[in-house]
Amino acid sequence: MKLVPHWIAGAENKGSSNRVGDVFDPALGQKTAEVVLADQADIDTAVSAAQKAFLEWKDVSLAKRASIMFRFRQLLDERKGELAEIITAEHGKVVSDALGEITRGLEVVDFACGLPHLLKGEYSSNASTSIDVYSIKQPLGVVGIISPFNFPAMVPMWFFPVALAAGNAVVLKPSEKDPSASLWIAKLLQEAGLPDGVFNVLHGDKVAVDGLLEHPDVRSISFVGSTPIAQYIYETAAKHGKRVQALGGAKNHMLVLPDADLDLVADSAVNAGFGSAGERCMAISVVVAVEPIADELIAKVSQRMSQIKVGDGRRSCDMGPLVTQQHRDKVAAYIEIAEQDGATVVVDGRGVVADGAAEGFWLGPTLIDKVPTTSKVYSEEIFGPVLSVVRVSSYEEGLKLINSGAFGNGTAIFTNDGGAARRFQNEVEVGMIGINVPIPVPVAYFSFGGWKHSLFGDSRAHGEEGFRFFTQTKVVTSRWLDPSHGGLNLGFPQN
Ligand code: NAD
Repeated sequence: MKLVPHWIAGAENKGSSNRVGDVFDPALGQKTAEVVLADQADIDTAVSAAQKAFLEWKDVSLAKRASIMFRFRQLLDERKGELAEIITAEHGKVVSDALGEITRGLEVVDFACGLPHLLKGEYSSNASTSIDVYSIKQPLGVVGIISPFNFPAMVPMWFFPVALAAGNAVVLKPSEKDPSASLWIAKLLQEAGLPDGVFNVLHGDKVAVDGLLEHPDVRSISFVGSTPIAQYIYETAAKHGKRVQALGGAKNHMLVLPDADLDLVADSAVNAGFGSAGERCMAISVVVAVEPIADELIAKVSQRMSQIKVGDGRRSCDMGPLVTQQHRDKVAAYIEIAEQDGATVVVDGRGVVADGAAEGFWLGPTLIDKVPTTSKVYSEEIFGPVLSVVRVSSYEEGLKLINSGAFGNGTAIFTNDGGAARRFQNEVEVGMIGINVPIPVPVAYFSFGGWKHSLFGDSRAHGEEGFRFFTQTKVVTSRWLDPSHGGLNLGFPQN
């Protein structure tokens, strides 16, 4: 059986623990590898390799760091097809979608290539007589990144290009469900010229995570995953004196006003609801239809859903399997709950016939109408190909519903009324908003992050906030001696 090792100090490392996790090919429904799960000794080895490498990396010139980032960008672009296949084999998403996530990750590498500009400080000449004041941005040291299964390449790339560009050393703890992408990336960074030890991959479960949260040499934690774990990460990392950004789960609503173009809405709802089998934090999971358009919209959405081909992501399909059998069953259970709670299952994905192995973790696209807002199907994150419809009678009712939820990651409004859209962007309590755009993931030079239970901490990913998160600022007040300005003065300078 293939073993996925750690990557520490520029080499594969099997670690010292004998614990392993199972890795599946979701479209085959078969175990294809085991991944090593770190123990305390492995955590210490990875962090000390990173700490040692940091001491040299922090002093590498900006020009040299930028050239390594450019080289990495070029290699990744040339060889992204290899990475996409690795992602599909462990996550299940179709290859074109895997390529899509790499492209979004590449955008962050593009952005990080501008590091000489982004790390510039400020300078005030002669702030007081003969005194200059300036700020410099320095790296933190060893930074920890803990990522979820659903974007095994893109989510690590939200953070590590910026962290490395800023002069930090990284220990990445990827999801144990699809661990191979991060190992491939580590090797590519080495090929691009990154010194050994500056980027390390530590595989594991809660033991590895807790080890990073508590390790005194880890200076910050960037986490992405479900809300309960994000909250735990935020509290534990903060308790151990670390800087922390913890992005959590989501329940994204699409508000459809009666004047919207319903064909555009139906296309968008289907793409955003079922792309990557709904395993996206920015997926649309609830369509809030302002009457009287719900019946017409549901007919259009159902018609499009009937064209979705579910199957092995390596074949010509639109939607792959779910990541594990356990997750597939958990998502399917919500369809049962919907029935019990009196909702109408319009399209039922449980009987899907997929173009793939019979043992694959299949669940077809599912549409549920008249979901009661008291149902768990409405309030909980499902993270699968299940799209709910809630009917409301006005914009105000829809807005109130969206704002009453626990999450605040993404949302979208579909309308042809600019005034209504503008009102929505001001009134909705959500971090990322699409106007006639269903999945409003910000480009890399803006920052990604939600509100409420979708983000714990005050820094979002990438953009200028990313550089702020991965640096600490010093302000220097300097005077070069001029004998004419000597003498005692116990007060603050006045001029
Ligand atoms: P998860 O919370 O189960 O796991 C995320 C990471 O935490 C993994 O590396 C995992 O090993 C680790 N982990 C799991 N249980 C832990 C525990 N008890 N203690 C410490 N660490 C633990 O999430 P997932 O299932 O891998 O990913 C899906 C979730 O991630 C969804 O909730 C989704 O909304 C969220 N997500 C959010 C965003 C965002 O930007 N807000 C982006 C992608 C995914």
